[in-house]
Amino acid sequence: MDSNTCCQELPDWRNQRSPFQRILSFGYYDGTTAGVAQCVGCSVAYKYDLLAWDEDQDMRIFGLAPLPSGSFSELLAASAVLGEPRWPTWVPVWQFSSETIQNKVESRIQAVLNKAGPLTFVVATNDISNNFVAGKRITETNVELVQGLISKSVDVQEWLAFLGER
Ligand SMILES: [Zn+2]
Repeated sequence: MDSNTCCQELPDWRNQRSPFQRILSFGYYDGTTAGVAQCVGCSVAYKYDLLAWDEDQDMRIFGLAPLPSGSFSELLAASAVLGEPRWPTWVPVWQFSSETIQNKVESRIQAVLNKAGPLTFVVATNDISNNFVAGKRITETNVELVQGLISKSVDVQEWLAFLGER
């Protein structure tokens, strides 16, 4: 894959290089579990959340929901008190000089995250900034299936089956 990969140009996300070159991680366990990922191609930022992982936490399934234009810059501005960003993946250390500042920053971040639209992609990855093992765009034809899988909290194997990997 070339470096101009974009989230909009991956009809099937199998064995693709990740178009997400800037990851702002708000949750971490041996790797990111939640946060916001920005596409290097079109600059769209997605809120991502863990849907499942295997027992070694190596294979992770994420749901991606797009954020309005400008959200990534707003999140970076809100997180600036936490230090200098590091790319591709910045996991800010959640330490604040006061509780007042913490509350202010957290509510500012939450306000941006609350603007996320419905999920548009599900991906399987070992590292969301690096590559995708598999992925699928969510469409009218599979949205109910996806919602069902989420509500049943299915495991990685079932997600891989949905993604066509098993
Ligand atoms: Zn894109």
